[in-house]
Amino acid sequence: MGINNAREINKLKRIDEIKVNSLLKISASRKEIAGILEKAKRLERLPLEDSAKLLSVTDPALLKKIYGVAYYVKNNVYGKRVVLFVPLYISNVCANSCLYCGFSSKNKSAERIKLTFQEITEQTEILLKRGHKRVLIVAGETASSKENIDYYVGAIEAVYRAEYKKNRIRRVNINVAPLSIEDFKKLKEAGIGTYQIFQETYHEETYRKLHVAGTKSDFNNRLDAVDNAFKAGIDDVGIGPLLGLYDYRFEILAMLMHIEYLEKTYGVGPHTISVPRMKPAPGSKYSLNSEYPFTDEEFKKLVSVLRLSVPYSGMIMSTRESAGLRDVLVNLGVSQISAESEVAPGGYENSLKEAFNNNGGQRQFNLNDQRSLNEIVMSLLSQGFIPSFCAACYRKNRTGGNFMDLAKPGKIKRMCNINALITLKEYLEDFAELKVKELGCKFIEEYRRGILSKADAKILDKFLMNVDNGARDDCI
Ligand code: SAM
Ligand code: SF4
Repeated sequence: MGINNAREINKLKRIDEIKVNSLLKISASRKEIAGILEKAKRLERLPLEDSAKLLSVTDPALLKKIYGVAYYVKNNVYGKRVVLFVPLYISNVCANSCLYCGFSSKNKSAERIKLTFQEITEQTEILLKRGHKRVLIVAGETASSKENIDYYVGAIEAVYRAEYKKNRIRRVNINVAPLSIEDFKKLKEAGIGTYQIFQETYHEETYRKLHVAGTKSDFNNRLDAVDNAFKAGIDDVGIGPLLGLYDYRFEILAMLMHIEYLEKTYGVGPHTISVPRMKPAPGSKYSLNSEYPFTDEEFKKLVSVLRLSVPYSGMIMSTRESAGLRDVLVNLGVSQISAESEVAPGGYENSLKEAFNNNGGQRQFNLNDQRSLNEIVMSLLSQGFIPSFCAACYRKNRTGGNFMDLAKPGKIKRMCNINALITLKEYLEDFAELKVKELGCKFIEEYRRGILSKADAKILDKFLMNVDNGARDDCI
C-alpha cells in the first residue's frame, strides 16, 4: 500500500466529512433536547449525534436551558477557578502563506522579527514583573525543521531561565507548527506543558484554498501533529478550529469527531480546546470579512455545546474577543483566558510597543480586550470567579489520563479551587494594585468561610500562612 493510500485511510478514521454533513441535517424535538441535557448534567461525555442535536437548536427558550446546563457542568467540573495565561510571540518569520494571517510570507509589509534567546528571557521578565506565571510561546514556521526545533527548545529554556524576585514562569505551553515524533520528544525534554495546534479548518477543500504554500498546505500533515505529539509522550495536547473560515457547526462537529478518534486511539482527549475566531489581520485582505460569520449568540451556543459534549477538556478563550463577550463565555464553559496579550514578537518591550500601536504592521491580528492583568483579575473576582496562577498539575504529574481520572469523579475541582486561592493570594501580595488586593483578600475570606469544608479551610489556612511567610508555588 502506498503512503498516500495509508494516509487516506488514516484521515478517514479521523475526519469523515460525509458523516459530519449528515449530522448537520439532524434536528431534535424539545423532549430529545431535555433528555440530552439530563445526560449532560450527569457529566457524561455526549455522542456526536447529541452534540449535533444541541447545535441545531435555535429557539431562544431552549438555548437558555442549554446555557443553564453548561453553567452547571462547568461549575461541577472546574468550580470557580479561571486560569490566566499570556502569549509570548517569539518570531513572525514564516515560510507559509495562510491567507488569513498577518505573518504570511506573502505579506511583504510586515517587518520580520525573530527574538534572540536573550530577548526572549527579557520579554519573559517583563511578564513576570506583571504577575504572569503561565506563558504560551507562539511562532511562525521556517522551511527548516532543524532550525525550528532548535529554536523552540532554546526559547523554552530561555523562558524558564527568566526570574523576577522569587518568581519564575511555572508552565510554558507552545503553539507551533507540526513536528516529527523525534522533535516532539525534544519539546517534552525541554519541559513544555501543553502542545497546542489549531487545525484551522476541518473542511479539507477550504483548507486547501486558504493554505496555498509551504508545509502547512498539507491538511493531513496538520492532523498528524496531534498523533505525533501523543506518540512522543506529550499527553497534554490542545486543539481547535479557527472559527470564521467555514461553517462553525461543521467545525465543531468535525473537531468532536477528531476528539473521538483521539480518545479511541490514545485513551485520552485534548487537554484543552481553543475557540479562536478570525480577526482582521494587517496585510490580509481575506481576514477583513469572514465568509462564514456567526453571531455572539451562536458563539455562546458553540461554547456551551462543547462544554456539554466534552466536560473534561479545558476551554481557552483569547483576547481576540471583547471583554464583554469573554465575561459571558467564562460562565458557559471557558476555563482559561489570556490577559494583556500582545501578538507580535517583542510586543512587551515598551519602546517597541508604541511603534506597534502606531502601525499595526507586525501584529498577527487585531485584539479586542486590552485590559491589564489587574483589571482582568478585578473583573473575575467581581463575578465570583477565582483567578488562578496555578500550574501544580504539571509538576505533580496530573497530566493526560491522570488529570482526566481526577476530573471525572469531580476531584480536580476541589484541588483547583484551593490552589487557585493560594496562587491568587500570591498575586495579591506581590503584584496587585491596592483596590484589587482589598477585593481579593475579602473574596478569599468569604470563599473560605462560605464554601470550603472545615477540613479544606484548614488546609487553605496553612498554605495561606506559608504565602505570608514568603513561600511561592507551594500548592496541593
Ligand atoms: N505558525 C504556527 C501555526 O500556524 O500553527 C503557530 C502559530 S500561529 C501564529 C497561531 C494561530 O494563530 C494559528 O493557528 C491561527 O489559528 C491563528 N491566526 C492566524 N491568523 C489569525 C487571524 N487573522 N485572526 C485570528 N487568529 C489567527
Ligand atoms: Fe505562518 Fe502560522 Fe501565520 Fe500560517 S498562521 S502564516 S503558519 S504564523
